[in-house]
Amino acid sequence: MNSSLIPFNRPYIVGKELYYISKAVLQGNISGDGAFTDKCHKWMEERFDIKRALLTHSCTAALEMGALLADVGPGDEVIMPSFTFVSTANAFVLRGATVKFVDIRPDTLNINEQLIEAAITSKTKAIVPVHYAGVGCEMDYIMDLAADKDLLVIEDAAQAVNATYNGKFLGSIGHMGCYSFHETKNFISGEGGALAVNDERFVERAEIIREKGTDRSKFFRGEVDKYTWVDLGSSYLPSEIIAAFLYAQLEESSKITKKRTEIFSRYSFALAPLANECKLRLPHTPECCNHNGHMFYVITRTAEERDSLIEHLRNKSINAVFHYLPLHSSPMGRKISTSEEHLPYTDDISARLLRLPCYYELSERDQDTVIDSILDFYKNK
Ligand SMILES: *Cc1c(COP(=O)(O)O)cnc(C)c1O
Repeated sequence: MNSSLIPFNRPYIVGKELYYISKAVLQGNISGDGAFTDKCHKWMEERFDIKRALLTHSCTAALEMGALLADVGPGDEVIMPSFTFVSTANAFVLRGATVKFVDIRPDTLNINEQLIEAAITSKTKAIVPVHYAGVGCEMDYIMDLAADKDLLVIEDAAQAVNATYNGKFLGSIGHMGCYSFHETKNFISGEGGALAVNDERFVERAEIIREKGTDRSKFFRGEVDKYTWVDLGSSYLPSEIIAAFLYAQLEESSKITKKRTEIFSRYSFALAPLANECKLRLPHTPECCNHNGHMFYVITRTAEERDSLIEHLRNKSINAVFHYLPLHSSPMGRKISTSEEHLPYTDDISARLLRLPCYYELSERDQDTVIDSILDFYKNK
């Protein structure tokens, strides 16, 4: 019996993390905004074409900064998918705003851009597209609509670091973009994130909000001779220990992305026969998108079949997991949203989706075990 567990995720350590952390410690500066934070900022700005990158302690924090910068408050509405992580909504609810959940597209599981316009009211302030599994939302359409209606676009690109849409990096297209470096994501620092500020108008205030509402960043650049409390803010910056760890990961981002997309392709190829027989559905990536191999999921025919496939895999020591419970029908979601009670694709697909083990160090042998177990499950079905 094969008893070694195949986990759903395993954080990958590239090798230089502890060396960079020791450098940060020896330099005598481990609070935020030191040399490694600066390196991470410059790396992201150059690589992803971001006006101003700012490390945060999580994507949750970056989203909260986005909500502060968007100036949303009681009476304002923000449009987003319901098929997302709670932080996408919490960030705006914390400011007193109301969330309007929009259904997803059945192909990419991203917000259905065609349904956004009908959700816009005179109270709408922002649209928050979430790039599920590192596959881009229809950003050209969304940006045009937002420009037309004078709305802000804040991308939740937590899963989409180093993925592109029409040749542009996700997170660099909206007025702001939010990244996650949580250990379940592609590039990690334990907990971690970044805010990409792409619109010049928000750069100065973003620095202030991140520094507890003070103009400390200006002070360090010598632009003011003392710093003081000038706006709302909090402490959103991570320590240099986190930044040093992250920088080692960013340096290896091409290698990590290549390996993850290979794992993704191997699953796609091996499971294609089942998809051709319509026994299950595989992820769809539009022509204009390059995903980053963040996630490989399958969609079963029924919710019951999904649950018995999870059970079947668990019996073979494979940990495959479902994903989001829709926010609109959650206890909190029902309190804070003004959406339809039923979002057909969100409700249906969230009950049939299963994520397979996908991480840098997944061996071909273990991946074959996962694949064979799935083929075996469908043999007589
Ligand atoms: C992971 C994730 C987040 C939260 O990221 P943290 O860095 O853990 O705060 C937010 N949105 C989406 C879509 C995510 O996948």
